[in-house]
This record gives sequence, C-alpha cells and structure tokens, in this order.
Amino acid sequence: MKVFYICSEATPFIKTGGLADIAGSLPKELKRKDIDISVVMPLYSKIKYNLEYQLEYIGYYYVDLSFKHIYTGVFKTVHNGVTHYFIDNEDYFNRDGLYGYDDDGERFGYFSKAVTVLFKYLNQKPDIVHTNDWHTALINLFVRDFSRGDSFYSNIKLIYTIHNLKYQGIFPKSLLWFLGLDESYFNEEELKFYDSINLMKCGIVFSDKFNTVSGTYALEVKHEFYGENLEGIIKKYDFKFRGILNGIDTSYWNPVNDKFIYQNYSLKTIDKKSINKLELQKELGLKEDAETPMFTLISRLVSMKGLDLIVRVIDEILQENIQLVVLGTGDRKFEMIFRQLSYRYPDKLRALIKFDEATSHRLYAAADFLLMPSIIEPCGVSQMIAMRYATLPIVRETGGLKDTVVPFNKYDNTGNGFSFENINAHELLFTIKYAISIYKKESFYKLRENAMNTDSSWAKKSG
Ligand code: ADP
Repeated sequence: MKVFYICSEATPFIKTGGLADIAGSLPKELKRKDIDISVVMPLYSKIKYNLEYQLEYIGYYYVDLSFKHIYTGVFKTVHNGVTHYFIDNEDYFNRDGLYGYDDDGERFGYFSKAVTVLFKYLNQKPDIVHTNDWHTALINLFVRDFSRGDSFYSNIKLIYTIHNLKYQGIFPKSLLWFLGLDESYFNEEELKFYDSINLMKCGIVFSDKFNTVSGTYALEVKHEFYGENLEGIIKKYDFKFRGILNGIDTSYWNPVNDKFIYQNYSLKTIDKKSINKLELQKELGLKEDAETPMFTLISRLVSMKGLDLIVRVIDEILQENIQLVVLGTGDRKFEMIFRQLSYRYPDKLRALIKFDEATSHRLYAAADFLLMPSIIEPCGVSQMIAMRYATLPIVRETGGLKDTVVPFNKYDNTGNGFSFENINAHELLFTIKYAISIYKKESFYKLRENAMNTDSSWAKKSG
C-alpha cells in the first residue's frame, strides 16, 4: 500500500506546534509497520539552507496558476527510514515564518496543486493520500478534480485529519479561479462559507474518511462552542468521521537519553530528575533549591491555551512558594504580560519569550508540574511529553487532555496528573494549590511514577 502523508510542518525539519510532532512521528511508526509511506512538505528556506538535512535534488516541473507558470523544484531525503519530499519555490517559502502572510491562500493553494502533480511526476500512484489541516486540504479537491480527466488520479482514497478546527483557511472565492478550479465548487455543499471559501470544509467534504485527534474532541466539535461554525458540516459527514488519539515519539522524548537535558534519568533513577531543576535554576538565576516546586508553561501564547485563566489568578499563584518558567511565543498581549510579570516577580518567574526546542526539553525535565489549562485542546502533545519526563500536567478536562490525563485520586493514589472541569480561573487556582499540597508527599512520588509509566506511544495506540 502506497501512502503519501502531506503536511505543512514536521519534526525534525520545522516546527511551530503539535502538528509537527505528529507529522514527524506517525509516518515513522507506520513505516515500522511496513507501510510504504512518504511525507511531502514545503521546502521552507530554514530547511533548504540547513546543511544537516542533506537534501538531494530530484528535478523540477511547472505548475500553472492563472497567468503564473511556476517553477516547482523537488528535493528529497530519508529520515527515520521515511522518504520526505520537499516542494521548492522560493517566492512562496523563502520567508521568516511559516504562516500568517497575506498570500497564505495562494501559497498553500500552490503547494496543494504542486503536490497533486508531484504524484504523477514521480510516477507513484498513491493508494492513500493523508492530508492535514487547512494547509493541505485542497489536495483532496485537486485529486478529485484531476481524476475527471486523468485516470491516474482515480481510485485514490483520501484521509483528512483535523488537528485544530480553530484555524480553517478562509479565503476569497477568487482563489478558486486563481488555482484553476471551477467556480461551481463555490456552493453551500462544497467550499462556500459565508462569502468566502473554507479550506477546512473542503478537506472534510472531499475526503473519504476524516478524523480528529482525540475521542473527546470528536464529540466536542459537534457542538457550537467547539465547532467553530463547522459543526453542521461535521455532523452531516459524521458517518465518515472518527476521533483517534495521537501518540508521541517516545524514543525522541525520552529522559533516559535526551541530549538536550542536563541530567538523564529513568524511572529507576528518578531522583536524578532534581539535578535538572537545580541546573535550570542556576542557568536562569533563580534560587537553587530542589525543595521549591517548579511549574512550567510551554505553549503558544494564545487564548485558546487558557492563558486568560492563568493571568486572572497569577498573583494568587505566585503568593505560593513556587517558581514558574514560561516558554512561549504568540500574541503580543501575552508576551508582554509574562515579561512584565517576570519584572514584578524576579524571584519566582522567568519568561522565555522564544521558540526553542532545546529549552523545551530542559523545562520538561526540570519542572515538577506543567500548566495546560486549555479552553480548547484537540489532543495536545505537551502533556504527554511532560508525563514522560515525570512532570505532572495540570489540565482542563477538554479534548485530548481529558483522554490522556487521569486526575489524581487521593483515596487510592491513582492518576497521572491533575485536572479541573470548568473554564474558571479559581478552579485552576484551587487545582494548583491542591497539587502543591501533595508536593513531595508519598502520593506525589506515586503520581510521578504513574506518569512515567503512562504509555503515550503510537505503538500503544495502534495496538
Ligand atoms: P499546539 O499544537 O496547539 O501548539 P500541542 O500541545 O499539541 O499544542 O503541541 C505543542 C508542541 O510545541 C509541543 O511539542 C511543545 O513542546 C512545543 N512548543 C510549544 N511552544 C514552544 C516553544 N516556545 N519552544 C519550543 N517548543 C514549544
């Protein structure tokens, strides 16, 4: 079976969030199961000019978008046994960031068409094309559209995964014309979304099966609060929809041999974890004290992650004898708030406003607790990583957080973290205080053990 997995980011090449973790680990696991899978993604300049990746140039072809005849280079490399193809066009992908440009519709529309042409260019007819989120959703439409005039594209099964319904790819309908797609696709049943086109909707409508990344989120998105105005279309296509929980790459996220952390440790040598805390405290100029509970927040700094809840009670949280290290980038508002807080609480809080993979590993290893009170969390990767490093997640019971974090039960010492139910800052505060109250008590050590014993691997998920 030939599978192409198409994504806009994947570790280790480029990452802005959990999608990259998934796209970096799921194909590897499927390959291990002898599935012939290749990954295709854009050749961002950060990948192209990183010599570490040793990309091999394959060739080029042209893709037509209205009056534009666009050079499309193809590079390739094999990583973890999986062939990765990269679509090269510097106009579109030689930028500082990945997303957030005025021409994102054109950029990812181009990418989607280029990928669809790539299958034929490589003369590799897929049995399954697996697309992810809005960036690659148009491939579903292109494959169906091309199949009308070219049998190469017929009988290809299309799987579409929604990693986050919040970002849908909404663009003017002129994008259809620009991409060479018939305007008739602009109708209520297909791409039309109010006065625009919606690529997430396109991905759903034109898929054979679609899924999202946890069972709970699959239920949630059928309701208005989580459905982001697509609950109707999701319910309509419920017959081909499922929730499938993500896993993580447990060989990469492994405190036993993690090269980024100060001190490796395992379940047996868990006492050594505290060396990571002491070293981090030294590095950040915080009081070096293994007894002080350390909290971390490793997150995109956006409302969806529940940051308003944290900010609402941050003064109360910081009355406790704790340290908090924030690692993140995102909305300026939150970047500013955490910066200011670090000036107000120099003994307790550090705000590292950057995206830095190595630092994230050190924080997972050093901290005792991870804050993740998301308002919406389709699956969440950070809480699974934290558990692997014996760092107890404190989460809101939503989406994948509900499906992966078992709250502490004081009667039988079960659980692998802490959780609260409502979008309520004081529930968060209470839960944090509850976590502090068991810090370094017998149940704390038991919970850490449970967290480390939690199997979040893809192998577990697929049985
Ligand atoms: P989302 O995909 O919504 O951002 P997830 O929990 O699914 O949230 O995935 C977040 C991933 O991004 C995790 O691997 C986390 O460690 C990483 N991450 C988030 N912010 C940063 C940062 N500032 N620096 C390094 N890694 C980060």
